[in-house]
Amino acid sequence: MSSKKIMLADRVVQIAPSPTLAVNAKAKALRASGADILNFSVGEADFQTPPHVCAAGKKAIDDGRTRYTPVPGILGLRVAVCTAFENDRGWVFEPEQVQVSCGGKQGLYNIFQAVLNPGDEVLIPAPYWVSYPPMVELAGGVAVFVPLKEENGFDLDGETLSQYITPRTRGIILNSPSNPTGAIFSSKALEQVAELALKNNLLVVSDDMYEKIIYGEGLPPHILDAVPEIRSQLIILNGVSKSFSMTGWRIGYSVGPRYLIDAMNKIQSQSTSNPAAPSQYAALAALTGPDDFIRRMNESFLPRRQCIVDSLNSIEGVSCLLPGGAFYVFPNFSAYYGKSHEEAVITDSVTLADYLLDEAKVATVPGAAFGADNYIRISFAASMDVLKRGVKRIERALSLLK
Ligand code: PLP
Repeated sequence: MSSKKIMLADRVVQIAPSPTLAVNAKAKALRASGADILNFSVGEADFQTPPHVCAAGKKAIDDGRTRYTPVPGILGLRVAVCTAFENDRGWVFEPEQVQVSCGGKQGLYNIFQAVLNPGDEVLIPAPYWVSYPPMVELAGGVAVFVPLKEENGFDLDGETLSQYITPRTRGIILNSPSNPTGAIFSSKALEQVAELALKNNLLVVSDDMYEKIIYGEGLPPHILDAVPEIRSQLIILNGVSKSFSMTGWRIGYSVGPRYLIDAMNKIQSQSTSNPAAPSQYAALAALTGPDDFIRRMNESFLPRRQCIVDSLNSIEGVSCLLPGGAFYVFPNFSAYYGKSHEEAVITDSVTLADYLLDEAKVATVPGAAFGADNYIRISFAASMDVLKRGVKRIERALSLLK
């Protein structure tokens, strides 16, 4: 058999595979080989999809709803998205302003493919979710990072943001609550972003994937409430993956101006056609059924959040903010950079995460993957017992570093 390989496209060579999925795969492989790994790298809740949602998916299959659907998704689901928006936030949108996609990821991909020309710049507040830069780059765009500061609770500020705007800037991505920091942008920050976006004709992409996984009263502030005039330049990305523990069903949705949704539908019609039909019926059941699932999930995360934050902050040299939403903490471990133990030399978040996996048998994701090398992302979607054991192991491994 020939071992010759076909040359790959430049765009593949230039992008890296998702580091979070890579860490998860490495942890699973180590576990499969018998190692006692505690996995804090996962980006999904430790809950099963609610039974009534699974039942709706099964029923769709039994009822023969297994064919192509309209490109933007079944009408019922798009109507349900509009109803949910109106009930949750009082926003009125038409079903023609909704595109259902294969997970939130595909929605974001469609957005950038629809709006970016080569060299167009997109502002990405950092720390950022790992997939934003490659998605922008795959569309020919340029990711421009706007640093957020730990001392400001990772909130945005207009003055910093304005320094990164150039004639090539086309858009900005907002993600609140944030993956990886769990931070929620303040209304003031959102007002400033909207002002700049209106002045510079920028598209605002509001990734609200974690808006329901929150620890305070009410929903997080939203740019559409802060400055309603932003509506014609705003696309909202959401989905059922996180809020209904439906990561494997692959259903997300984008809501925005009709011209933009039409353009995204063109892209989707030539790529995936539509998300899986049974998954759409399951998502419909999720959005129209009881919402006690989300409440119970949040209640269960609350003590775990406190436990992980308190125990990490009790480790010498570690600082960890209390996240306002999502199920991640993003502690600062930079006090340990420059230290070593036997062969292991800690120079950055990647060497630290590797060391923690080898020495403490704890899987985490290096902050470098999120554009913030002083940090490590830890998911607290694990049992209290596993969280406590994990932090003890981290503390012991850190204490060996001299
Ligand atoms: N946006 C953020 C911030 C995420 O963390 C994720 C998933 O991890 C997504 C979007 C995409 O979600 P989905 O699994 O629906 O593609």
